[in-house]
Amino acid sequence: MEATVSILSCAKRRKVEESPATKFSSEIAENSLAREVDIQKIACAVEMILEAVGEDPRRAGLIDTPQRVARMYQELCYSTGVDAASEISCKFQEGTEGLVVIKDIEFNSLCEHHLVPFMGKAHVAYLPSHGVITGLSKIARVVELTARRLQVQERMTEEIADAIFKGIEAQGVCVWIEAEHMCMSMRGIKKPGARTVTTVFRGLFKEDPQMRAEVLSHLK
Ligand SMILES: [Zn+2]
Repeated sequence: MEATVSILSCAKRRKVEESPATKFSSEIAENSLAREVDIQKIACAVEMILEAVGEDPRRAGLIDTPQRVARMYQELCYSTGVDAASEISCKFQEGTEGLVVIKDIEFNSLCEHHLVPFMGKAHVAYLPSHGVITGLSKIARVVELTARRLQVQERMTEEIADAIFKGIEAQGVCVWIEAEHMCMSMRGIKKPGARTVTTVFRGLFKEDPQMRAEVLSHLK
């Protein structure tokens, strides 16, 4: 019964407070395509969670928590709906045909099944086509963009590979991600330290087993 009352009061408050000013694009987002985040709606939901676990959202330690958590989600999900390939805005004609490997790109993301973090490292390799490469930082930005939304590791790996494959029309792309999932470490099966590895191949690395073996030797 109390929960129903809380929902009503929260909804009522939102109606009063919600105005264009409370709906704004992420200030943290550098990408202009970033989605609007409804801060007030998240704050209301957090307040209800606090009440649901038996806490008093008005006590000193929690009074600002709903707003703080809302802004955190704004930051963690700012790239929702953004095409990561849009990050590869600059390309250079360098005439190189050699393999480009960027290892140990650290990231953290949010598991969409439990809303808890998973974090780890992404390793990316691509084989340029007609000597066209992109800035190394752009590859790291693609990883960052795909991480800043609700994710599963398997899809994140695919999204990074597709963004690079599409963005610079590489002959081949390989993405290798290893990560620890808090939903496995701190709840459920409780296996801290377990690492999940996902790999995705595009183009030549998908078609040619020999080339796949070669690229993997650089990433492992
Ligand atoms: Zn999970």
